[in-house]
Amino acid sequence: MSPEKPMIQKLPLASTAPVLIVGSVAYDTIITPAATQEYILGGSASYSSIAASYFAPVQLVGVVGHDFKKGFIDRFEHHGIDLQGLKISEKEKTFFWKGRYHENFNHRETLVTELNAFESFEPTLPQNYKETAFVMLGTIGPDLQHHVLDQLNGPAYIIADTIELWIDIKRKELEALLPRINLFTIDKREAMMITGETNTIRAGHKLRAMGPETVILKKGEHGALLFHESGLFSIPAYPVTEIEDPTGAGDTFAGALLGYLAAKGSTDFATLKKAMAYATATASITIQAFSMDRLNDAATALIEQRVEELTALTQF
Ligand code: AMP
Repeated sequence: MSPEKPMIQKLPLASTAPVLIVGSVAYDTIITPAATQEYILGGSASYSSIAASYFAPVQLVGVVGHDFKKGFIDRFEHHGIDLQGLKISEKEKTFFWKGRYHENFNHRETLVTELNAFESFEPTLPQNYKETAFVMLGTIGPDLQHHVLDQLNGPAYIIADTIELWIDIKRKELEALLPRINLFTIDKREAMMITGETNTIRAGHKLRAMGPETVILKKGEHGALLFHESGLFSIPAYPVTEIEDPTGAGDTFAGALLGYLAAKGSTDFATLKKAMAYATATASITIQAFSMDRLNDAATALIEQRVEELTALTQF
């Protein structure tokens, strides 16, 4: 990146406490009812890192292939993201995911998942990442998520997420991860898959009983539910009328949530609720464009404006 190119503006509440984000960095091909975009920047760690960068310095751990576009590296650098932990595989290609959405965006189909460079990836944390106090284990195989936890030295607040594929093929490893994390952010459908429940509230309680002290169930256009020892909390989605591509909403939500908690240096019930408002606002921006295209310089002001609107929307 050229030195004269300024970095994105962080939110006024941002602090210098870093967050560590591990997950997929991908090429996505996305088909929506209105358009198709091929080989765009995707991946759980990409969305989470770019979202978190408005709140905190970000350390990214992942792998890409030799075919990864330089422009995407520049993009991370424009967000001030530390790339010491991003490995570039000389032999393999970048993780590839292809998905298709149907008319109302409520359902998506995975058409292709090619792990490529992730197949043989063993995430190794740079020495200075091992003490980071706020960590996101984004969507990658749960064995890799365990491997990252094994390398952490200090006490850390751990958020983890997963996706259908890993519930299908690595359920045992995923269940063993749950007692090792503090907060599980999970899509409602996936929560049902793990618990076998058909009731959202029962599913949330059951997940907490499986290990994590806190669970956030994401319900897409219906918002998100927080399950915590102090009680339940519910937040609606930001009312978006024009959705372009919902991919990465969950990862954006988790990255912004992590960044907010790190900036505040707290994980109590009140802070988690506020963090969910910021996470909801940031995710609503992601879905209004393909890839991370709206998480740009203009997003900082938009996040604040949408948090205010959400506050007004939920006060009575
Ligand atoms: P979300 O819409 O928040 O569930 O996240 C979608 C992102 O997750 C896409 O950008 C994909 O590249 C990435 N993704 C999809 N499947 C997997 C998988 N099995 N492992 C890791 N990342 C994945």
